[in-house]
Amino acid sequence: MILIDGKKAAAELREELKLEVSELKTKYNKVPGLTVILIGDMTPSQIYVRNKEKSANEVGLKSEVIKYPDTVEEKTVLEKIEELNKDETVSGILVQLPLPKHIDKQKVIEAILPSKDVDGFHPMNVGNLSSGYESSIPCTPLGCYLLIKKIEPNLSGKKAVVVGRSNLNGKPMTQLLLKENCTVTITHSRTKDLKAECLEADIIVAAVGIPELVKSDWVKKDAIVIDVGINKTDNGIVGDVAFNEVSKVAKALTPVPGGVGPMTIACLLKNTIECFKRSQI
Ligand code: NAD
Repeated sequence: MILIDGKKAAAELREELKLEVSELKTKYNKVPGLTVILIGDMTPSQIYVRNKEKSANEVGLKSEVIKYPDTVEEKTVLEKIEELNKDETVSGILVQLPLPKHIDKQKVIEAILPSKDVDGFHPMNVGNLSSGYESSIPCTPLGCYLLIKKIEPNLSGKKAVVVGRSNLNGKPMTQLLLKENCTVTITHSRTKDLKAECLEADIIVAAVGIPELVKSDWVKKDAIVIDVGINKTDNGIVGDVAFNEVSKVAKALTPVPGGVGPMTIACLLKNTIECFKRSQI
């Protein structure tokens, strides 16, 4: 079984991006800039943002974090986004989710210029991705996609089952696999026989949020299994896939932690660089 090492893959991607940033600096005499807006003091969000900033600095991006208390008015945030949209030194804008209840998430997402939307959540980017046009692609599914391609460069005709239909993970993952000519089934909480669906799959991507939902007798021999889940349990952090048993049947499997997670941030940096390059044309 191939243990898909997301930490290593992310480190390799960051090295490539570092080189690219230095080439862009030579060519344009400036570097891509990422601005993250962090609202409130939720610990997980603070940790995510700190890691994003650290990784951005590591590859040579200009990075900035704008912090607001969780009492900030929606108007203040929207005005800041407007200012950042006009700022030529800012290539990518990310508003760390979740937001306090009084702030309309969709309004915030739609306020970001699609060309600076490094999370790929703006409806314009969602539409472009599903139409097969150039777009920002949500970071976690993009990371999953890159990991799958490392194991199997030619995905044409493969049967893929995506478990979970969130806008963040399941839906964009489906689009990426379709673009690679997979036959994709998207499953969710109302799917009648999830085990039977999974058993058909050459590739399973699980993005559910239920600890160890996908068992070994759900997985076809030699399937590639990507585990997006991050679930806190009494036994520590586990994924949506029962790692120990599935590792006995799968061809390749991502661990949790150390699989998809590290690729997510590396893909955010990649998206920032892509936004910068598109803005230079
Ligand atoms: P979500 O709650 O938005 O969506 C979960 C999806 O799972 C829904 O579409 C739902 O229909 C489906 N679902 C729920 N119960 C199900 C069941 N019994 N059978 C089949 N499908 C079922 O979650 P999300 O934001 O997509 O996140 C999913 C998981 O991925 C979470 O554990 C989250 O922490 C993790 N996550 C990881 C990363 C990363 O970088 N690795 C990034 C984002 C999210």
